Amino acid sequence: MTQQERHDAVVAYFTREPEVKTELHYENVFQLLIAVVLSAQCTDKRVNLVTPKLFEAFPTPDHLAHSTFEEVFPYVKSISYPNNKTKYLIKAAQQIVEEFHGQVPEDVDSLQKLAGVGRKSAHAIASIMYNMPVLAVDTHVMRVSRRIGLVDESATTPLAIEKQLVQAFPEIYIGKLNHWLVIHGRYTCIARKPKCEICQLTKHCLYFATHQRQFAIQNKL
Ligand code: SF4
Repeated sequence: MTQQERHDAVVAYFTREPEVKTELHYENVFQLLIAVVLSAQCTDKRVNLVTPKLFEAFPTPDHLAHSTFEEVFPYVKSISYPNNKTKYLIKAAQQIVEEFHGQVPEDVDSLQKLAGVGRKSAHAIASIMYNMPVLAVDTHVMRVSRRIGLVDESATTPLAIEKQLVQAFPEIYIGKLNHWLVIHGRYTCIARKPKCEICQLTKHCLYFATHQRQFAIQNKL
């Protein structure tokens, strides 16, 4: 099977399924920015537990920009890396107020200038909020795309994987590709042991093709 056939199969499968979206809760781009910064190396579930009170206490960039570390920290202390993330949130809000007239910027380059926002986070915000054709490559996207064989063996870094996927998939699907692969990686193609027995992509998956015999023995097929 060629890589192109795998790409086509992935598009065919995910466009048939109900549309998937980010599992982070938010109501506007400022809230999404906060949620994305907090979600680095933390689960969306945990982030969603703390953001309602955080959003209520700091409803705008202006509120957060004029807050102290001591005021913000208690809201995020149960998240991973709470010290750094508290500092990032306050600093990013100050940048938004001082450099972007109080509005979260829309373009990826400006988003990346905000504290706590790297390439992956900027792409996540731009694709979720504005459906821009940019791809956030996280651990799920890396693992699933390599397992299925959507990228070749030379793609070992997030940037290399991003470049290959962006080149291979039609532009209209790039903004959705992250959600497809993240949800698939979170619930089916999980890191420790992929649930190939319930996966609809077995016919097109490189990993399944190479582990088929072992899979059959394990499942007594
Ligand atoms: S067949 Fe298995 S390895 Fe391949 S995508 Fe599905 S769950 Fe992942």
